Amino acid sequence: MEDYMFYIDAEGLLSVFRLMGGAEAEELAKLLLTRPGMREDELASALQMDVKRVRKLLHQLNELSLVAYDMVVDKELNKRVFRWRLQQEQVQGVVKTQLKRIAERLRMLKKHYETNQLYWCGNQGCRKYIFDEALDKFFKCPSCGGRLMVFDSTELLRIVDEKLAEINKLLE
Ligand SMILES: [Zn+2]
Repeated sequence: MEDYMFYIDAEGLLSVFRLMGGAEAEELAKLLLTRPGMREDELASALQMDVKRVRKLLHQLNELSLVAYDMVVDKELNKRVFRWRLQQEQVQGVVKTQLKRIAERLRMLKKHYETNQLYWCGNQGCRKYIFDEALDKFFKCPSCGGRLMVFDSTELLRIVDEKLAEINKLLE
C-alpha cells in the first residue's frame, strides 16, 4: 500500500507563520526556511529588526511549536548561542487541524442541504430559507421581494463533495 504523507508546500508554510505572527513572523520564517540554524543576532540584522524584538518573536513562535532551537557553543564567539530552525512537522499539524475544521464545516453544510428543502429567490446576494422560514415570510424574499422558490441543491452538493474529497486526500 502506498504511504501518504501530509505535506504543505513552502507557500503554505509561510502563510501559517503570517497567520500566527504577522508579516514579521513570515519574513523570519522565510529566512529560516533557506538558512536553518541562524542566530538571533543574525536574524535581527537580516530582518533589520531590534534583536530584543526578534527574540520575543522567536519565543512566541516557539510557544506555538512553530520554531525550535538548539543551544550550541559557538567557537568563534566563545559562548553559548541559540540556533533557530523551523519545526516543519508541527506546522503541518497546525494546517492539518485547520483542514479538519473546514471539512467539519463542509460536512455540516452538506447535512443542512441534504436534510432541508431550501427556498430561494434566485438573487445571489440573498440568503436561502428552510421551509418554516419561507412559510413565515409567505414565500416572499424579505431582502428583495422576489418569490421564494424550491432551491435545487444538486450542483452545490456536488461542489461540497469535491472539496471534501480534496481535503480528505490531503489528510490521508
Ligand atoms: Zn431575494
